[in-house]
Amino acid sequence: MDRALTEQEFLERFDNAIKNKHIFITYQPKINHSTGRMIGAEALMRWKDPEYGMQYPSDFIPVLEKHDLIYRADLAVFDSVCDFIKRCINAGIDPVPISVNMSRYDIYRKNYVDEIEKIRKKYDIPVKYLHVEVTETSAIGGMELVSGVLKLLHEYGYIVEMDDFGSGYSSLNVLKDLPVDVIKLDMRFLSGDIGGRGGTIISAIVQMAKWLGTPVIAEGVETMEQADYMKSIGCKYIQGYLYSKPVTEDIFLKKILKLEHEPLTPALDLVTAMDAGKFWDPRSMETLIFNNFVGGAVIFSYQNGKAEIIRVNKKYVREIGMNMLEQEILNTDPFQGMDENNRRIYSDALEKAINTNDEVVCETWRMICSKTCGEDKICVRSYIRMIGKTENQYLFYSMVHNITAEKTRFNELYESDQRFRHASEQANVYAWEVDIGTKIMHPCFRCMRDLNVPPVVNNYPEPVIESGLFPPETADMYREWMRKLETGEVDNLEGIIPLTVGRIPFYVRYTLERDENGKPLKAYGSATLVIDENENENK
Ligand code: C2E
Ligand code: CA
Ligand code: CA
Repeated sequence: MDRALTEQEFLERFDNAIKNKHIFITYQPKINHSTGRMIGAEALMRWKDPEYGMQYPSDFIPVLEKHDLIYRADLAVFDSVCDFIKRCINAGIDPVPISVNMSRYDIYRKNYVDEIEKIRKKYDIPVKYLHVEVTETSAIGGMELVSGVLKLLHEYGYIVEMDDFGSGYSSLNVLKDLPVDVIKLDMRFLSGDIGGRGGTIISAIVQMAKWLGTPVIAEGVETMEQADYMKSIGCKYIQGYLYSKPVTEDIFLKKILKLEHEPLTPALDLVTAMDAGKFWDPRSMETLIFNNFVGGAVIFSYQNGKAEIIRVNKKYVREIGMNMLEQEILNTDPFQGMDENNRRIYSDALEKAINTNDEVVCETWRMICSKTCGEDKICVRSYIRMIGKTENQYLFYSMVHNITAEKTRFNELYESDQRFRHASEQANVYAWEVDIGTKIMHPCFRCMRDLNVPPVVNNYPEPVIESGLFPPETADMYREWMRKLETGEVDNLEGIIPLTVGRIPFYVRYTLERDENGKPLKAYGSATLVIDENENENK
């Protein structure tokens, strides 16, 4: 007759159960829902009593914990897992990493980590095949205690997984302070409608974990809908009945042989000095800076040509998101709205940023859809820098400027100036016009292309003087020219000014246009190369 044992019976039968392997392990695979490959498995304890049948952890684990026996059961489990891995290796089978549960009572035992390490050494198996699951509630016993245990586990090389994340014990704080390598998010703690509040919490946790660079495994996933939802918010690792219930060793071995394996993607390694934890903290200096002291900025990950936005600041939203919410932009693709050509420009820039490890600037057009304005085409100048990488995943930080207005002007100029452009190209002439009333200067296409003059210059000539286009000692003379044109003292001006970085001599000429009352309207400037006749003759 199958029934649960009583507390007394568990205690009486415990020694015997350990000795005769009535306590044994089942394995539940962890799967990458995107690829269908196995990334690992969890070892779960079972107790099959010869008389009363299968016993479940929810019944006997509290009893063992209460009577300080759990460490013996856990060490037995650890021993069996090592034994299994060893047998796999000996048989030429590549096993997956197996996670073993560590009770919070194990954490209170001084030598527990050394004890498991001794067992691993006894079997002489690589530590990469063993993960340790520690529950969030362990922190109840004090942070220093858990921190110490995690530190030691890491020293020995174990991957540590934070179990039952989201079960409620001040989750976010725990995560920030404990250096875990993997987060297990239990769907059952957060269920309800995934489109509603539950979903918002899950998605916030996944976002944060991503930013911390910590992979997340969704546990207790029973339906395809749940798995797809998790994947859609960026959590592709799944453990649950959907893929497999915990199974006995022989069935698990068949799965190991049948399914392809792949490693859990390691956490992103931030290459800058930025502190990821602080960066995520809404009150930290980093967040303050991100939100207030830089322009529009976005952080996104990039892997095999696919990109995903992880974080944007408010100015980013204003700059290019029009009136979208920050939330709506997360998880979208920074390539969104770009055509083939612009995609190429952008991905080339990313590749360049990866290869040079330096800031790369690019300009791309994209369609955006905003709630109030409908579809619109915008041009964005991006200053892109790689801030983190793993073997095949990259993290980018990009400042953005919406330069649509500038560009539209440029294009209009470009079209209306087509003929003039060809002519100036032929004549080697650089030309520009200055509106006397507004001090706005419009350069020709060649000025923009060769001399790097922006399409519209306000408060001319100051920005151009500042840019160093002509020598500082000519600046006052040039200002004087402008004054003479503004006041209408002269109609023509001419001089030689050495321009550009190379300080090449140019004839610079001005002609003034006046209105019907003789008031100065526009000044037309041009610059042509001074051709040294002698030098030409010598050649
Ligand atoms: P846990 O570590 O959170 O383990 C996951 C539990 O969720 C397992 O229950 C597993 O069978 C169950 N589960 C997995 N997928 C699904 C699903 O899709 N739907 C539902 N409803 N359940 C699912 P199990 O094996 O009964 O273990 C319960 C708990 O007992 C474990 O929770 C763990 O805290 C503890 N436990 C199990 N084995 C050990 C062990 O070796 N040592 C220690 N200290 N605790 C263990
Ligand atoms: Ca667990
Ligand atoms: Ca769990």
